[in-house]
Amino acid sequence: MASQDAAPDKLLLGAMGIAKEAQTPKDVMSRFGELLKSTYGIDQVIVKDRQGQLGTVDEFTINTGKPYVDNSLSSYSTFSELIRYYNEGFKCCMVLPIAKEGKSFGTVTLLSRNDQIFTQGLAEMLWVVSGLVSGEASVKFEKDKSLNLAKYFDASFNSMLPQLLVEQKGAIVKANKAAMNQFDRNQKELANEGLEDIFNISSEEIHKLMEGTAVSACARESGDRVFELTSNRINDALSHVLVRDVSLIREAKSKTFLMDNSDAEVFVVLDLNGRITWASQNMERMLKVNRDVVLGKSFFDFVENQRAVKDQIGSSRGTYTGHVSFNFGNDIEIGAKLTVLKSEGLMSCIISTDYDRFIKGLEKNFDDLVSLSNESIIHIDKSGYILSFNKSAERLFRLGKDSIGTQIYAICAEKESQDRLTSSIAIARANGFISDVFVNMLDLSGSQGIPCQQTIKAMTDEKDAVVGYLVVSRELLTKRELEQAREDGNRLARDVEKLKTESELKSQFIYNISHDLKTPITNIMGFSKLMLTDDFGPLTKEQRDNISIIYDESERFMQLVKQILDVAKLSSGIVKMDLQTVKFKDIEENPSIKSLAEACANKGLEFRWIVDQEVPGITADPNRLIQVFSNLISNAIKFTEKGSITVKVYRKGRSVRVDVTDTGIGISREDKTKIFKKFYQLKRGLVQQKGAGTGLGLSIAKEVVNLHRGSIGLVSDVGKGSTFWFTIPITPKMKKKTMQYNKSEIQEQQH
Ligand code: ADP
Repeated sequence: MASQDAAPDKLLLGAMGIAKEAQTPKDVMSRFGELLKSTYGIDQVIVKDRQGQLGTVDEFTINTGKPYVDNSLSSYSTFSELIRYYNEGFKCCMVLPIAKEGKSFGTVTLLSRNDQIFTQGLAEMLWVVSGLVSGEASVKFEKDKSLNLAKYFDASFNSMLPQLLVEQKGAIVKANKAAMNQFDRNQKELANEGLEDIFNISSEEIHKLMEGTAVSACARESGDRVFELTSNRINDALSHVLVRDVSLIREAKSKTFLMDNSDAEVFVVLDLNGRITWASQNMERMLKVNRDVVLGKSFFDFVENQRAVKDQIGSSRGTYTGHVSFNFGNDIEIGAKLTVLKSEGLMSCIISTDYDRFIKGLEKNFDDLVSLSNESIIHIDKSGYILSFNKSAERLFRLGKDSIGTQIYAICAEKESQDRLTSSIAIARANGFISDVFVNMLDLSGSQGIPCQQTIKAMTDEKDAVVGYLVVSRELLTKRELEQAREDGNRLARDVEKLKTESELKSQFIYNISHDLKTPITNIMGFSKLMLTDDFGPLTKEQRDNISIIYDESERFMQLVKQILDVAKLSSGIVKMDLQTVKFKDIEENPSIKSLAEACANKGLEFRWIVDQEVPGITADPNRLIQVFSNLISNAIKFTEKGSITVKVYRKGRSVRVDVTDTGIGISREDKTKIFKKFYQLKRGLVQQKGAGTGLGLSIAKEVVNLHRGSIGLVSDVGKGSTFWFTIPITPKMKKKTMQYNKSEIQEQQH
């Protein structure tokens, strides 16, 4: 606490001196950090700019414009950044926004390995001083930005893309090599002509371009090439203009139109690893698979006999042609001619469906297809007698064994439908095929009308003589069912909208409450601790005991608030995961885990950490993972009086499994199912266990494991001990949204 005696005015003078002398914002903030480090027991200062994707606590401070203080970091701290700091051994943290006139530039994070550093007084003073410093820094930020851009332009000199440094009125100050080549002029010639002459554009268009609108133009002497110009303003005088030749894109667009609408061939482009990067829109029509489903997937996974085909394509020079069977996962096998052209890091494939082979394939799989099909298929002979039917038809029309040999007309609803079926069969006999026939069929048992859309195909023998028909029926939804479906859709849309606002409200609530609840508790803790150091005069034993109780209880309260916030955050789905490759060796070395191992030893328990050799690194949020480990291990310590605690990590299929085994009191069968619920604690006799937590630890662990798409559970024997286990997929399939979150740190200083 002594460090707080440093006079604020001295700090202020120091800070202003720095702000004036330093050349760059990075410099300003780093020297400011040094100053604080020497006076206030701060161990690390991190400066982040606003450009990068910021972590949640930084977003929070930027959005609220107020500093954020956490004086007792723990694995339940509200933001995952804070949990990381805790895991790195820091005890308290203050995040200051850097802003000027409402425009934010980033944050400064102050970290300390000491307890309770940021009292309200100090926090307020730091805020004021940092405000003054960041005012100065902001001016330098602007300067730095334009310097950087100018530097960037020099770096672009060798870029393939034509680039120009242009004054607001269109005069060209600098051009890179590609621009000079493209327009066949040197720097000076380009400078003499300016944008207006080279691209034949008006001053209004130049003005629009400088305001940030993309402008298309044809360059004189570049034939019928079309260019798109875009600009980035560097400062009031200069803009950086990119020139893209879009004629090729236009040409390609007209070509793809032809491809998308071809009736003969499907076009697919693969990267060199065989992944599908583009497919023509006719894919769905011709190959019965939606192209969005296959984009990004490996093309050869859909090819029968894939290894042989791959080898042949690999060894062919330039072009490959062959017959291939495709199966896009919908159980339809399609035979086709495949042509592959290899060029410039891409493979262009042309698939022409080859119906002879397709039909052959169909025949082979005919029986399977008929029985598996979701459509109701009835096979009748030439005169309309039922020969066989598949499962769907059996269900829809309630056919049974005795239906074989009866007339199909028996399951037509009325005379009119019978007539329609008769004439349709006649057409199928003549043309081989008829579709979109609407017939009202019957349910054999209940005589209920079933409106159907039918397709009838004639079956022929080798001499093309008709031997029977396949009648394929699809039940039509009734008007009422259609209305119901529409209503369900609308209701779903409303629910989604409601959920969206609810979740936004929730996150807002968490942000606000985290601040509002924690500030007063911090003050209670700070002042009671100060009293215990006799700073306000000596205490009697009774006073000391009572104030200790205040301190301990407020600490417990703080822990509870943090856990509740964490649960709320985890279950509201607003958590951002910081996914990285995590090695279990690093987890073992982490200070939080090390201190648990120590707690084990202090209690006379043996602690073992066993990682199987073949366990790979996994993709996970390391700090969240440590949170799970801490919860399980600290529970194990809490409920074990003698014996050992063993953490075992091993591979299980595509996941890694972790077992935390103790030799403690165990958990009964009834309790096992409830234990992961929020606020659940087991009643063991009348007395609440000493050191019992809040009953939230396991539910947090479960949420974290779920967020990683893993699972969690336990095996236990009352009186003998428990094993809590969880699995984490080695590479989890995350939604893109949760994968964001990478910090950009301008500067990091380690003490
Ligand atoms: P708490 O914060 O109260 O520990 P948890 O959700 O972590 O909350 O645990 C809920 C309850 O489950 C605990 O109160 C305890 O009764 C029981 N429990 C958890 N881990 C163990 C264990 N390893 N052995 C016996 N009981 C346990």
